[in-house]
Amino acid sequence: MKFDTKVVRAGISPDPTTGSILPPIYETATYVLEEVGKDRGFDYTRSSNPTRQVLEANLAAIEGGEYAISFASGMSAVDSVLKLVSAGDHVVAGDDVYGGVTRHFDNILIRYGIDFTYVDSTQPEAVRDAITPKTKMLWLETPTNPLLKITDLHAMVAIGKEHDLIVGVDSTFATPVFLRPLEFGVDIVMHSTTKYLSGHNQIIGGVLATNRKDIFDEMKYIQKTIGAVSSPFDCWLNLSGLKTLHLRMKRHEESAMRIANFLESHKKVDWVLYPGLPSHPQHDIAKAQMSGFSGMIAFELKDGAEAGRRLMNAVNLCGLAESLGSVETMITHPATMTHADVPDEDRRKRGLTDGLVRLSVGIEDVDDIIEDLEQGLAQA
Ligand code: PLP
Repeated sequence: MKFDTKVVRAGISPDPTTGSILPPIYETATYVLEEVGKDRGFDYTRSSNPTRQVLEANLAAIEGGEYAISFASGMSAVDSVLKLVSAGDHVVAGDDVYGGVTRHFDNILIRYGIDFTYVDSTQPEAVRDAITPKTKMLWLETPTNPLLKITDLHAMVAIGKEHDLIVGVDSTFATPVFLRPLEFGVDIVMHSTTKYLSGHNQIIGGVLATNRKDIFDEMKYIQKTIGAVSSPFDCWLNLSGLKTLHLRMKRHEESAMRIANFLESHKKVDWVLYPGLPSHPQHDIAKAQMSGFSGMIAFELKDGAEAGRRLMNAVNLCGLAESLGSVETMITHPATMTHADVPDEDRRKRGLTDGLVRLSVGIEDVDDIIEDLEQGLAQA
């Protein structure tokens, strides 16, 4: 199957009992065994569920992986990956990862004796220099949230091999439409399916995909033990959303490119970060590594934080909201919203200024989005 066909069809076949073209929602906790020691492949929904299995088969296929596991949230997927390391181990992470990830690493996992070092993942030498004899994992995003840095996956996989590390990549911003990290040799790819992969602001979910049977078995065991599973209804909604992923992403990208150009030429805008713009510092790597640049833009106004605040309060069509990757355009103030728990000093060190505005471009008519931004900028 070609990619677009996989998105719509992979892992999905008509229900054997009724012919229903969509998989049923198996909203059940438990399954009756045929006899002691003999079930029909399912015993308890914390271990597995038929609706979840269909979603996992589809997600594995579109990510180009052998295995996928669907989680209750992106964060529970990240948490489960981090359960592959133990007390005394060290993890090197990108310095511009989602704020909830740094909150989890710095405020919770640190209590269990795991150490973290954050480095600029656009600088392979900095990543290599941060590795110690105790390092077990690289945790990376590309493009990063919110500064849209591009991490060179070939370089990261080479470093991972040199030091026998597990390389995990959060590919939420890219989606498998534009980037499939497993094809680069990454060990684990993770998504917050809350975002583009479901695409309609209906669910909170996460997924891990891998080609490594040892990692899959361990992750399944961890998930079954802690119970970070997605509900059958959420899996079904996620499947419905996925069917248009390729179409939505094309539109997100086309509109984002136009809006990034509009913002870059606007007199009140100081700078714009969008991987598709030639001005983006890693534009060449983005071009070589991704087949498209997705729908996220970061920018700052010349009059800084106050002007940014005025813009975000003045827009109407763009919803001032925490999330991203859905059909609706959403505008976010990372310093007070998604990354509020990153200490001020760390935030500034990594270039996440108080004036930074993040835009998740939706699939409305792009002229309407630009008109809304234009009137918002006039008031900023
Ligand atoms: N990774 C990225 C890049 C995110 O943006 C988010 C949430 O915003 C997460 C992970 C966490 O996912 P969730 O909110 O589904 O737990």
